[in-house]
Amino acid sequence: MSRPVRFNIHPKEANINDAVGVAEAPEGYAGEGFFTARLSDVVGLARKNSMWPLPFATSCCGIEFMASMAPHYDIARFGAERVGFSPRQCDLLMVMGTIAKKMGPVLRQVYLQMAEPRWVLAVGACASSGGIFDSYSVLQGIDQIIPVDVYVPGCPPRPEAIIDGFMKIQELVGQESIRRRNSEQYKLLMNGYGIE
Ligand code: SF4
Repeated sequence: MSRPVRFNIHPKEANINDAVGVAEAPEGYAGEGFFTARLSDVVGLARKNSMWPLPFATSCCGIEFMASMAPHYDIARFGAERVGFSPRQCDLLMVMGTIAKKMGPVLRQVYLQMAEPRWVLAVGACASSGGIFDSYSVLQGIDQIIPVDVYVPGCPPRPEAIIDGFMKIQELVGQESIRRRNSEQYKLLMNGYGIE
Protein backbone atom coordinates (compact mmCIF):
# COMPACT_ATOMS: atom_id res chain seq x y z
CA MET A 1 0.00 0.00 0.00
CA SER A 2 1.43 3.34 -0.94
CA ARG A 3 1.97 5.87 1.76
CA PRO A 4 0.03 9.11 1.68
CA VAL A 5 2.17 12.16 1.11
CA ARG A 6 0.43 15.42 1.81
CA PHE A 7 1.54 18.64 0.28
CA ASN A 8 0.32 21.97 1.43
CA ILE A 9 -1.81 22.83 -1.58
CA HIS A 10 -3.80 25.49 0.26
CA PRO A 11 -1.15 27.72 1.80
CA LYS A 12 -2.43 30.42 4.06
CA GLU A 13 -0.77 33.29 5.79
CA ALA A 14 1.19 32.22 8.82
CA ASN A 15 -0.41 33.06 12.12
CA ILE A 16 1.86 32.75 15.14
CA ASN A 17 -1.10 31.56 17.21
CA ASP A 18 -1.44 28.51 14.95
CA ALA A 19 2.19 27.56 15.45
CA VAL A 20 2.74 28.10 19.14
CA GLY A 21 1.04 25.72 21.53
CA VAL A 22 0.86 26.49 25.21
CA ALA A 23 0.77 23.57 27.64
CA GLU A 24 -2.28 23.43 29.85
CA ALA A 25 -1.68 24.45 33.43
CA PRO A 26 -2.07 21.64 35.97
CA GLU A 27 -5.06 21.53 38.28
CA GLY A 28 -4.63 24.01 41.05
CA TYR A 29 -6.01 26.93 42.95
CA ALA A 30 -5.78 30.38 41.43
CA GLY A 31 -6.32 33.68 43.18
CA GLU A 32 -5.44 37.32 42.77
CA GLY A 33 -1.83 37.20 41.55
CA PHE A 34 -1.04 33.63 42.64
CA PHE A 35 -1.50 30.05 41.58
CA THR A 36 -0.87 26.93 43.61
CA ALA A 37 -0.65 23.35 42.37
CA ARG A 38 0.80 20.01 43.42
CA LEU A 39 4.58 19.88 43.02
CA SER A 40 4.29 16.51 41.24
CA ASP A 41 1.99 18.04 38.62
CA VAL A 42 4.32 20.96 37.95
CA VAL A 43 7.41 18.74 37.74
CA GLY A 44 5.46 16.31 35.53
CA LEU A 45 4.43 19.14 33.21
CA ALA A 46 8.05 20.24 32.80
CA ARG A 47 9.37 16.71 32.36
CA LYS A 48 6.82 15.56 29.83
CA ASN A 49 7.36 18.56 27.57
CA SER A 50 11.15 18.33 27.59
CA MET A 51 11.95 14.67 27.07
CA TRP A 52 15.48 13.85 25.91
CA PRO A 53 15.29 10.63 23.88
CA LEU A 54 18.19 8.26 23.41
CA PRO A 55 17.57 6.31 20.20
CA PHE A 56 18.89 2.76 20.39
CA ALA A 57 18.25 1.74 16.80
CA THR A 58 19.60 -1.53 15.50
CA SER A 59 17.59 -2.15 12.35
CA CYS A 60 14.63 -1.22 10.16
CA CYS A 61 12.44 0.35 12.87
CA GLY A 62 15.20 2.90 13.28
CA ILE A 63 14.45 4.19 9.79
CA GLU A 64 10.84 4.87 10.82
CA PHE A 65 12.19 6.71 13.83
CA MET A 66 14.32 8.86 11.51
CA ALA A 67 11.14 9.72 9.61
CA SER A 68 9.42 10.67 12.85
CA MET A 69 12.28 13.09 13.59
CA ALA A 70 12.20 14.60 10.08
CA PRO A 71 10.17 17.73 9.23
CA HIS A 72 7.03 15.94 8.01
CA TYR A 73 6.27 14.29 11.37
CA ASP A 74 8.67 16.32 13.51
CA ILE A 75 8.75 14.89 17.01
CA ALA A 76 10.34 18.19 18.06
CA ARG A 77 6.78 19.53 18.24
CA PHE A 78 6.48 17.57 21.47
CA GLY A 79 9.57 19.10 23.03
CA ALA A 80 11.78 16.13 22.20
CA GLU A 81 14.06 17.52 19.54
CA ARG A 82 17.15 17.08 21.66
CA VAL A 83 18.07 13.52 20.73
CA GLY A 84 21.20 12.49 22.58
CA PHE A 85 23.61 9.61 22.55
CA SER A 86 24.87 10.15 26.06
CA PRO A 87 22.87 7.92 28.43
CA ARG A 88 23.71 10.14 31.38
CA GLN A 89 21.86 13.09 29.88
CA CYS A 90 18.81 11.32 28.45
CA ASP A 91 15.63 10.27 30.18
CA LEU A 92 13.83 8.26 27.47
CA LEU A 93 15.39 5.13 26.00
CA MET A 94 13.77 4.38 22.64
CA VAL A 95 14.67 0.86 21.53
CA MET A 96 14.04 0.27 17.85
CA GLY A 97 14.99 -2.89 16.06
CA THR A 98 15.99 -6.49 16.55
CA ILE A 99 18.02 -6.99 19.70
CA ALA A 100 20.31 -9.98 19.37
CA LYS A 101 21.17 -11.75 22.61
CA LYS A 102 24.74 -10.55 22.19
CA MET A 103 23.45 -6.97 22.12
CA GLY A 104 21.37 -7.48 25.29
CA PRO A 105 24.17 -6.66 27.79
CA VAL A 106 25.02 -3.51 25.82
CA LEU A 107 21.41 -2.33 25.93
CA ARG A 108 21.19 -3.09 29.62
CA GLN A 109 24.39 -1.16 30.29
CA VAL A 110 23.04 1.86 28.42
CA TYR A 111 19.87 1.65 30.55
CA LEU A 112 21.88 1.40 33.76
CA GLN A 113 23.95 4.44 32.78
CA MET A 114 20.81 6.58 32.51
CA ALA A 115 19.96 8.59 35.60
CA GLU A 116 16.56 8.33 37.28
CA PRO A 117 13.89 9.15 36.36
CA ARG A 118 14.14 7.20 33.11
CA TRP A 119 11.53 5.68 30.84
CA VAL A 120 11.70 3.04 28.11
CA LEU A 121 9.75 2.86 24.85
CA ALA A 122 9.92 -0.43 22.93
CA VAL A 123 9.31 0.43 19.28
CA GLY A 124 8.16 -2.33 16.94
CA ALA A 125 7.57 -6.05 17.15
CA CYS A 126 11.25 -6.95 17.46
CA ALA A 127 11.99 -4.77 20.48
CA SER A 128 8.66 -5.73 22.06
CA SER A 129 8.69 -9.48 21.50
CA GLY A 130 11.44 -10.58 19.14
CA GLY A 131 9.06 -10.11 16.20
CA ILE A 132 9.40 -12.59 13.39
CA PHE A 133 12.82 -13.68 14.64
CA ASP A 134 11.80 -16.55 16.87
CA SER A 135 15.33 -17.87 16.88
CA TYR A 136 18.06 -18.87 19.30
CA SER A 137 20.03 -15.67 18.71
CA VAL A 138 17.36 -13.00 19.20
CA LEU A 139 16.10 -11.63 22.50
CA GLN A 140 12.34 -12.30 22.65
CA GLY A 141 11.52 -8.82 23.91
CA ILE A 142 13.68 -6.28 25.69
CA ASP A 143 11.50 -6.56 28.80
CA GLN A 144 13.47 -9.72 29.54
CA ILE A 145 16.40 -7.51 30.55
CA ILE A 146 15.04 -4.01 31.29
CA PRO A 147 11.62 -2.70 32.35
CA VAL A 148 9.51 -1.23 29.53
CA ASP A 149 6.93 1.54 29.99
CA VAL A 150 5.21 1.57 26.59
CA TYR A 151 5.19 -0.89 23.66
CA VAL A 152 4.57 0.25 20.09
CA PRO A 153 3.21 -2.54 17.87
CA GLY A 154 4.00 -2.91 14.18
CA CYS A 155 6.61 -4.24 11.81
CA PRO A 156 7.60 -1.54 11.32
CA PRO A 157 5.30 0.89 13.10
CA ARG A 158 4.60 4.01 11.07
CA PRO A 159 5.91 7.32 12.40
CA GLU A 160 2.37 8.11 13.59
CA ALA A 161 2.50 5.00 15.80
CA ILE A 162 5.90 6.00 17.16
CA ILE A 163 4.56 9.47 17.95
CA ASP A 164 1.50 7.86 19.57
CA GLY A 165 3.80 5.74 21.75
CA PHE A 166 5.79 8.83 22.61
CA MET A 167 2.60 10.64 23.64
CA LYS A 168 1.66 7.68 25.87
CA ILE A 169 5.07 8.07 27.54
CA GLN A 170 4.33 11.78 27.98
CA GLU A 171 1.05 10.87 29.71
CA LEU A 172 2.88 8.54 32.10
CA VAL A 173 5.57 11.12 32.78
CA GLY A 174 3.03 13.87 33.42
CA GLN A 175 1.06 11.73 35.89
CA GLU A 176 3.99 10.19 37.72
CA SER A 177 4.40 11.12 41.36
CA ILE A 178 7.82 12.49 42.23
CA ARG A 179 7.89 9.90 45.03
CA ARG A 180 7.40 6.90 42.75
CA ARG A 181 11.10 6.18 42.23
CA ASN A 182 11.61 5.89 45.99
CA SER A 183 8.63 3.60 46.53
CA GLU A 184 8.83 -0.03 47.62
CA GLN A 185 6.89 -1.06 44.51
CA TYR A 186 9.49 0.53 42.24
CA LYS A 187 12.35 -1.06 44.18
CA LEU A 188 10.65 -4.45 43.78
CA LEU A 189 10.33 -3.86 40.03
CA MET A 190 14.03 -3.01 39.77
CA ASN A 191 15.03 -5.95 41.99
CA GLY A 192 13.04 -8.19 39.63
CA TYR A 193 15.54 -7.18 36.96
CA GLY A 194 18.51 -7.61 39.31
CA ILE A 195 19.01 -3.84 39.51
CA GLU A 196 19.79 -2.39 42.95
S1 SF4 B 1 9.77 -4.95 13.92
FE1 SF4 B 1 9.93 -5.34 11.72
S2 SF4 B 1 10.60 -3.37 10.89
FE2 SF4 B 1 11.03 -3.33 13.11
S3 SF4 B 1 13.14 -4.03 13.33
FE3 SF4 B 1 11.81 -5.81 13.52
S4 SF4 B 1 11.71 -6.68 11.43
FE4 SF4 B 1 12.47 -4.58 11.26
